[in-house]
Amino acid sequence: MDAQMVVLKSELRAIVGAGELVDSGETLETLSKDYFWYSPVLLRQLESKRADMAVRPGSMDELRAVVAACCRARVPVVPRGAGTGNYGQCVPIYGGVVIDFSRLDRIISLDGGVAHVEAGARLGTVEGEARKAGWELRCMPSTWMKSTMGGFLCGGSGGIGSITWGGINAPGNVRAITMMTCEENPRLVRLEEAESLKALHTYGTTGLMVEVEMRLAPKVDYDQLILSSPSWDALLDWSDAAARRLDWRKRLVTQFEWPIPSYFKPLAKHLRPGDSITFLLIDRAQAAEAIAQAKAAGIDCVYQKALTDPPRPPFLTDYTWNHTTLWAIKADPTITYLQAGFGPNFRQQFAELRRRFPGEILFHLEWTAGNAKMMRIKPDEVLVGGIPIVFFKSEERLDEILRCCEEIGVYIANPHTYFLEEGGRHPNIAEKRAFKAEVDPAALLNPGKMKTYPVNPFAREPAVS
Ligand SMILES: Cc1cc2nc3c(=O)[nH]c(=O)nc-3n(C[C@H](O)[C@H](O)[C@H](O)COP(=O)(O)OP(=O)(O)OC[C@H]3O[C@@H](n4cnc5c(N)ncnc54)[C@H](O)[C@@H]3O)c2cc1C
Repeated sequence: MDAQMVVLKSELRAIVGAGELVDSGETLETLSKDYFWYSPVLLRQLESKRADMAVRPGSMDELRAVVAACCRARVPVVPRGAGTGNYGQCVPIYGGVVIDFSRLDRIISLDGGVAHVEAGARLGTVEGEARKAGWELRCMPSTWMKSTMGGFLCGGSGGIGSITWGGINAPGNVRAITMMTCEENPRLVRLEEAESLKALHTYGTTGLMVEVEMRLAPKVDYDQLILSSPSWDALLDWSDAAARRLDWRKRLVTQFEWPIPSYFKPLAKHLRPGDSITFLLIDRAQAAEAIAQAKAAGIDCVYQKALTDPPRPPFLTDYTWNHTTLWAIKADPTITYLQAGFGPNFRQQFAELRRRFPGEILFHLEWTAGNAKMMRIKPDEVLVGGIPIVFFKSEERLDEILRCCEEIGVYIANPHTYFLEEGGRHPNIAEKRAFKAEVDPAALLNPGKMKTYPVNPFAREPAVS
């Protein structure tokens, strides 16, 4: 650690207290990492990256003082929630100081159906408190028990609930966010409604998110169903129709082809070898109708369990979204994944991918309510997306699959890059760059992640513009 870092360390220790500063050992290692190892490409690129230190401020004043000290010392500043991101979003590429938000986790209010919380609040806690007050989160990742509101808005996209409410970018879901600038005299900037989009999914490069106001949905009591069929196609027809039933109050429609269900060991006693399965979270009052409809289509309900209040496991959500990939990698470490948005011709796209890459791709589908800007379709259309499993052969083969997807019109949010622009979901990148210039004038925030930002004081190579 050089002399400048030693001085900074003693300054930060004085601000947060010795117990809230970590500068070595396994904890620093953990606080420098996320789940980038899902990608063999990112594993190679990011494995060796470490922060010089990590701090856990316990108040806004401490946070402000930490940021000011880092700015004076001109060191990289990398915000961190629970570290469950998948693309190395919170990995400090050039070292510096990781700011762990876990102590900035107050629920300020749930009034009027808006969760007003500090950015470090865990989504599971917010969901639990919201349900007590008659509300629920509109959308949340499958890591909802652990991950933070700030981490979700800065690193995530959508998930459970997105079948009805879309993702974090969908109009109205975020009412406002408050960002702290990365300056010697940090300021607070409040962005409301559509304006907040310029700071969403920007990997902590456009300010430190300190407060979030997320609109909630009226609480629904859900049943968790697993529907099973030996026929992928019959199940696909049924799931797709169910997803488009706007009168069904749903939080999740997910379909897996066999052998993906075989990776879900704790569910084994409920599942039939060889069958594809669909998970449905539906209003308890509508579950019987859904089961009867499935039965009429030759599809059996093999599992039905109420989601309790307050929420207690078992949660089917633990097997969905990017949890599916986790179960798959546990079963077979050669597995990796894609994040895909299919077109209205999704059946042909599946067939083409199967034809071009036989035995290399398994389909895991997630239906969502569309986000017009992101997917270039009408907002009220339901989209077929998903996180297909890929049996990894080589980086070249992975590139071939990505190129094929592009050719046949499958949208890919590439999970094998840490550059935010290459990960997709940035139709407004120029606005994001402009906002970064306003809130991070010395380009200290998570340097190296916004590839098209022209300034990176820590890089040997100039940034790509
Ligand atoms: C098993 C598994 C399943 C997942 N399922 C989903 C899913 O369903 N949907 C989904 O969208 N994602 C999913 N993810 C990714 C991830 O869990 C979520 O995006 C999650 O919400 C991230 O929250 P976090 O608190 O862990 O953020 P972190 O990983 O800590 O941070 C994410 C990014 O946000 C930045 N950041 C964090 N806090 C702040 C702050 N206060 N201010 C500024 N920047 C900040 C970090 O620098 C980083 O760039 C999954 C990941 C795993 C491992």
